[in-house]
Amino acid sequence: MFLTITTTGTAEKPATDLGFLLHKHPQKAQSFSTSHGTAHVLYPEATPERCTAALLLEVDPVALVRRGQGRGRGGAPDAALAQYVNDRPYAASSLFAVALGSVFRSALNARCAARPELPEQARPLRVVIPALPARGGPELVRRLFGPLGWSAVEVTPVPLDTRFPQWGDSRYVRLVLEGELRLADALRQLYVLLPVLDGSKHYWVAPDEVDKLLRAGDGWLAEHPEHGLIAARYLARSKRLTQDALERLELVRLAESDGSAVEEIDNAVIEETATPEAEERRVPLARQRRAAILDALRAAGAHRVLDLGCGQGQLIHDLLADVSFTEIVGVDVSVRALTVAARRLRLERMGERQSGRVRLLQGSLAYTDKRLTGYDAAVLSEVIEHLDLPRLPALEYAVFGAARPGTVLVTTPNAEYNVRWETLPAGDVRHADHRFEWTRAEFRDWAHRTAGRYGYAVDFAPVGPDDPEVGPPTQLAVFFRKDSAPKEGIAA
Ligand code: SAH
Repeated sequence: MFLTITTTGTAEKPATDLGFLLHKHPQKAQSFSTSHGTAHVLYPEATPERCTAALLLEVDPVALVRRGQGRGRGGAPDAALAQYVNDRPYAASSLFAVALGSVFRSALNARCAARPELPEQARPLRVVIPALPARGGPELVRRLFGPLGWSAVEVTPVPLDTRFPQWGDSRYVRLVLEGELRLADALRQLYVLLPVLDGSKHYWVAPDEVDKLLRAGDGWLAEHPEHGLIAARYLARSKRLTQDALERLELVRLAESDGSAVEEIDNAVIEETATPEAEERRVPLARQRRAAILDALRAAGAHRVLDLGCGQGQLIHDLLADVSFTEIVGVDVSVRALTVAARRLRLERMGERQSGRVRLLQGSLAYTDKRLTGYDAAVLSEVIEHLDLPRLPALEYAVFGAARPGTVLVTTPNAEYNVRWETLPAGDVRHADHRFEWTRAEFRDWAHRTAGRYGYAVDFAPVGPDDPEVGPPTQLAVFFRKDSAPKEGIAA
């Protein structure tokens, strides 16, 4: 089973950059042993104008049988012959996807230490897979690859036997994809869609498959019209895992429709009359909010801090600047936001001492998560309003009931203040993805109920200019767990 990837280039942007992208030198043929055989990477052509990399997987059929994974599609367990005689060695199946994922791991993750800018660039690509199993037929192959940004998706059924055309077509197709894409995106699509088309995943589908699917689906799966079918097949039709994947994809979709989480109105400078203090206040609200959060965390004596719904990591950046925060964990449902955060924070280039202080985790706050227990404080900055109200109790339980940090800071827009935003039409919310915006009374009411339910006490503080009529633009609640050591309050 094999595939080739070809790119073209010029003297300034040579095609042989493919070697950097794949982390495999174009002048060498290399072999890697994988759990199912040997993978070979070689370049049949490598000039500045045109470069082709080929990945071949030589499956070890006996090893497969020993691992009980040799059965071909639909083979009954007792079909002894099918254990040895099947399409595994020839077709680009799920085994191939696993080899692709391990041999080209850095490329799949869009990492290239030597040339960090390269993985971000789209380039002309031509991918050829001569024998792709196509459960669902050529039409499904088109439906799966069609919406993914390729300018040409060519699907040709492979005849069962060219000498006997009357026997008709096999269930394999030759697939050729052409277009201008980032290599990482092309590889991630293949990593997910090969096993989807193969239909008989060779390995047991464990719960972390959902994480793998979401990681590899980053940037394309949530918006794919067939994402339901893709998730169900990838997860071997496990209802529970598929449901989990679909819910998380829905959140990713919402988070991404968020205009990459840049809250424009929020970052706008609050204009007031031209007095000297007003000059001082010409600080974006988002910055004022981070300053208020840092003050509250310091006042609470917090050292180990969770930033829940950390987005692109602006708060983490500020936390890192203060050495009293010894452990900082950012959590977000959006892989894209976390990728941007990692890049902006320069996590990869940080010294060990710094990078040991910070971690980014993908996860949904609507589920309890053991990784989040035992922290001094958790911050939910402009996050709760992104959840549908019926989902909010799940977040409350996950944060206040299960993670139970000593201190919880929650900020959210004050809806009353919206009349002061000149650009905001009356009755509108500040951001398209906000599911609700609360008045001060509504927020206090929610905060008191939540504090009461989970054994916390709560204080409130304004962020931004506290308007005598409508209050501040942002409202902050500080929750203290009643059974944790008493801390000084944060006086507003
Ligand atoms: N805390 C940042 C970002 C706020 S935008 C700031 O103050 O600027 C809201 C963030 O919450 C987005 O990054 C979004 O991806 C994330 N988010 C929304 N719902 C979530 C959920 N259920 N679980 C985890 N993160 C979520």
